Amino acid sequence: DQLANQIAAGEVVERPSSVVKELVENAVDAGSTAIDIVIEEGGLASIRVTDNGSGIEADDIETAFQRHATSKISSASDLFRIASLGFRGEALPSIAAVSRLTTVSSQESTGLGRRVVIEGGAVTANEPANAPQGTDMLVKDLFYNTPARLKYMKSIQTELGHISDYVNRIALAHPGIAFTLTHNGNTLLRTLGTGDRLQVIAAVYGSSAAKSMLPVEAETPDYEMRGYISKPEMTRANRNGMTTIVNGRYIRSFVLNQAIVQAYHTLLPINRFPLVVLELGMHPSLLDVNVHPSKMEVRFSKEAELKELVEQAVRAALRSERY
Ligand code: ADP
Ligand code: MG
Repeated sequence: DQLANQIAAGEVVERPSSVVKELVENAVDAGSTAIDIVIEEGGLASIRVTDNGSGIEADDIETAFQRHATSKISSASDLFRIASLGFRGEALPSIAAVSRLTTVSSQESTGLGRRVVIEGGAVTANEPANAPQGTDMLVKDLFYNTPARLKYMKSIQTELGHISDYVNRIALAHPGIAFTLTHNGNTLLRTLGTGDRLQVIAAVYGSSAAKSMLPVEAETPDYEMRGYISKPEMTRANRNGMTTIVNGRYIRSFVLNQAIVQAYHTLLPINRFPLVVLELGMHPSLLDVNVHPSKMEVRFSKEAELKELVEQAVRAALRSERY
């Protein structure tokens, strides 16, 4: 089983940013309103994610680190109705297999919780602990017992870049959650959790970028769409400024990006791309997120219809500003 966890870890935990992603998604799923992410040395020394969510039930806390111990899905047919970010029950055991992990979690506002320590997949402590309601996950010495994987890690700056990119996008996806990201003592991102997406855009891209954004909105029986697109004057040399969010999940979608760029068709110079934060809501049966363990790629069941909707909505937003 230890071996199965290490193999799964190879898929789920590619680099420090994968750990951040899985821990933060769990914090979001737990209904947190504040999530603090503290990183040392690009995540290779330590990654800490503290939330104020539901906490983990004391009797369940060791179980959460066993394979496929998800509390979020109960039968195969649920896969077609996935609303939470996690559902594979693979992340915690995978992370615990390749690091020294300490978790302190409490469901009580009175502050009585549980502390569990796992090193290389083996539980070395499980004891009562004082803790505010929520969960604190500390992952140290990532890949310490898988030197082959450790060798593939890039510079601290590169690893931090991946982490920062992910945190920016999850913050853009969840303006109602207050996020902080700190690296080696420096605060890199702070959002307020007020629900104002423009505030998050300002925190991530700067206030002049936020000022150049146009709202975009659309609704059909199948889809709900809202977000912001930049005026055509405000462009970038690559697609990294395009964030698409589907049912609360930041995803990479060639299809959606293409629809957006298409709408700017005559307005953008070649090889320039807009700044976009677009959130789509749809019935979970209209998409399949179970394509890759990272859950970052999805398949849409009515792809052509969705593409058309996005393109039309972006066009309409531009036209309303006389572009
Ligand atoms: P998944 O997210 O796919 O269910 P994970 O391995 O990421 O699987 O987590 C296993 C379980 O541990 C979750 O289903 C959840 O019940 C619990 N859990 C993990 N992190 C948290 C957290 N921050 N707050 C509350 N519960 C958590
Ligand atoms: Mg998870």
